[in-house]
Amino acid sequence: MARYEKQCAACGADFVAARKNKKYCGTKCRNRARYEANREEEISKQRARYEANREERLAYACAYREANREEILAKGRARYEGNRAERLAYARAYRDANREEILAYASDYHEAHRAERRAYNLAYRDANREEIRAKDRARYEGNREEISTKARANARLSAAREEMRDVLMAMPQIEQMILSEGENHDQ
Ligand SMILES: [Zn+2]
Repeated sequence: MARYEKQCAACGADFVAARKNKKYCGTKCRNRARYEANREEEISKQRARYEANREERLAYACAYREANREEILAKGRARYEGNRAERLAYARAYRDANREEILAYASDYHEAHRAERRAYNLAYRDANREEIRAKDRARYEGNREEISTKARANARLSAAREEMRDVLMAMPQIEQMILSEGENHDQ
């Protein structure tokens, strides 16, 4: 009986065959190979069908979306609202787990875009000068009472400080005065 040293085309194992054209070490590998071959063929057929109907499929999907627009949007919203808690928890967990990385990224980004941000701010201020001024004025008017109360308090405080400083500066003279008054009384 002839013996051929072979290597299985499926599992790669060495085996000895009685026939020269044997490709697989056993039925298990042969069946698997057949299945794989059919599977490849089946998939490529499906793919070809899918490609051939591309235009038709897209048109159908478009028409469906148009016809069911409201319903699709409502479903999407409901899904989004439905797992709100879950989403927030997930986002929080992610932030907590990647805190360092996120901070580093934010700071890198901040550094990298410094000039850009500055230019943007300047341009924005230039373009919206009147509006910004009006807002500032409105804010000032809105807080006028508070601002003038604060200003009065600050003025009182600095007047008190000044007075205190004068007193401290005058201390030696006052001391001298008290001493000399005492002397006068003693006499
Ligand atoms: Zn095999």
